[in-house]
Amino acid sequence: MGGMATTAPGTRALPDTSHFRRQAFIDGAFADAASGATFACVSPVSGETLFDVAACDGADVDRAVAVARRTFEAGTWSRLAPRERRTVLLRLAELIERDRDRLALMITLDMGKPISGAQGEVDGAAAYFRYFAEAVDKVYGEVGPTGPSAFTFVTREAIGVVGLVVPWNYPILMPTWKLAPALATGNSIVLKPAEQSPIVPLALAELAAEAGVPDGVFNVLPGFGETAGQALGRHMDVDKLAFTGSSEVGKLFLVYAGESNMKSVQLECGGKSPNVVFDDVPDVDLAVAQAAEGIFGNSGQVCSAGSRLLLQESIADEVLEKLAAEAGKWQPGDPLDPATRMGSMVDETQMDRVLGYIGTGASEGAELRAGGARAREESGGFYVEPTIFAGARNDMRIAQEEIFGPVVTAIPFRSEADGVRIANDTVYGLSSAVWTRDINKAHRFARSIRAGTVCVNCYDWGDNSLPFGGYKQSGIGRDKSLHALENYTQLKTTYINVLEG
Ligand code: NAD
Repeated sequence: MGGMATTAPGTRALPDTSHFRRQAFIDGAFADAASGATFACVSPVSGETLFDVAACDGADVDRAVAVARRTFEAGTWSRLAPRERRTVLLRLAELIERDRDRLALMITLDMGKPISGAQGEVDGAAAYFRYFAEAVDKVYGEVGPTGPSAFTFVTREAIGVVGLVVPWNYPILMPTWKLAPALATGNSIVLKPAEQSPIVPLALAELAAEAGVPDGVFNVLPGFGETAGQALGRHMDVDKLAFTGSSEVGKLFLVYAGESNMKSVQLECGGKSPNVVFDDVPDVDLAVAQAAEGIFGNSGQVCSAGSRLLLQESIADEVLEKLAAEAGKWQPGDPLDPATRMGSMVDETQMDRVLGYIGTGASEGAELRAGGARAREESGGFYVEPTIFAGARNDMRIAQEEIFGPVVTAIPFRSEADGVRIANDTVYGLSSAVWTRDINKAHRFARSIRAGTVCVNCYDWGDNSLPFGGYKQSGIGRDKSLHALENYTQLKTTYINVLEG
């Protein structure tokens, strides 16, 4: 197995990775896949193969689910008092913070985001575990208003064995959005990370064990979607499947559930979110800076990216000129350099897909205002320039399809009604924003937009205390906030007939 530092042309030597975990984590121990199969972990920073990772399949899923079921039934975690799970998860948050730099390095090497962004993501994961650890011993059940001849109560019970299938764009935060509430409420977990970013979830499992999560409660199976992911989705003994990823694959999980045991399915899927700038925008420079951040941040590999920039005609030229200048500040750099704002794409496939869409935009007749090409090719890695298309129509493919790259499609509009109509005219409904100094217009927009989030005079702001998720084909259900506790519990009604003495 690899791990030796090597020098790629045009970049620094990659740090030593020999201590990174690369096997599956089942029942509290690292193990090879039952088949012995592996796949290459390639760093998009330089295109080098770091090492091989266990490629789990149905046999490993069977084993991990059986272990998860056994531990759930045994009650070593599921029947602890909530305050005891709280103590363990608070410790986990501390361990994540202790190992911040090590975890951030794994993220950057595995999927190419700048090290500063990776550190922020790790901080976010620690804060999120803390939020649910703190919450879980502060929620109450209900007593039913059923009258004097009965005592009735409604409790929330852990669902049981929960399967998690997640994407690569936030390799520690996406699993954590589901893990923290699922663990806090006492479930046992089988996580399948994305094949592009399996490393940090394995480290997280090891930290969870160190924090005191009992063996078998949190299992991690690296592997491919069609094998390990599908096996989890179709498993007869998985009670709930929570997924984050593309809408296309999300729909498959509904099929898997329907064709197996009718497990509960929660989906956080894609987006083509509108960022709508009216000509009474209160601060055009702020709007431009956030439009850039909203599509170039994480190389545009963000479900809620502001990939459609709707500009009221009278202000379109000014915004586009400023945005092109702003794009200059987002040129891809070495992801290991703390000053870098934009790193690589996750892999060569994603880079090629994004470059393909850039070709499509040009052939559809949109005007390329900035970027459009591969960058830092000499590094061996997979980088794309921040790219702006102007003068697009909303029926173009670059306005309708999720590119998942640093490519913004700017579309002009005339009236408020036009802006709302175009904003809603996709199959997605994840996020949205409106920029205006007119409070009535902002409220009208907020209530007309069919999206899970609407921001006013900011883009893609949120908080752990606020739900996040999509309307339409952006998903079913919400992550984050106290509502996420409902995702991993089910209601039980107990009815006691109070007999007369
Ligand atoms: P993806 O759908 O290709 O993969 C997501 C996960 O599903 C991976 O673990 C993958 O291995 C697995 N998978 C793939 N094919 C499968 C199959 N046939 N059966 C079972 N599992 C399968 O998505 P991606 O490319 O990893 O991530 C990008 C997508 O994720 C984008 O669409 C993005 O918008 C979405 N996303 C959504 C949110 C949200 O909260 N709404 C957050 C982040 C990313």
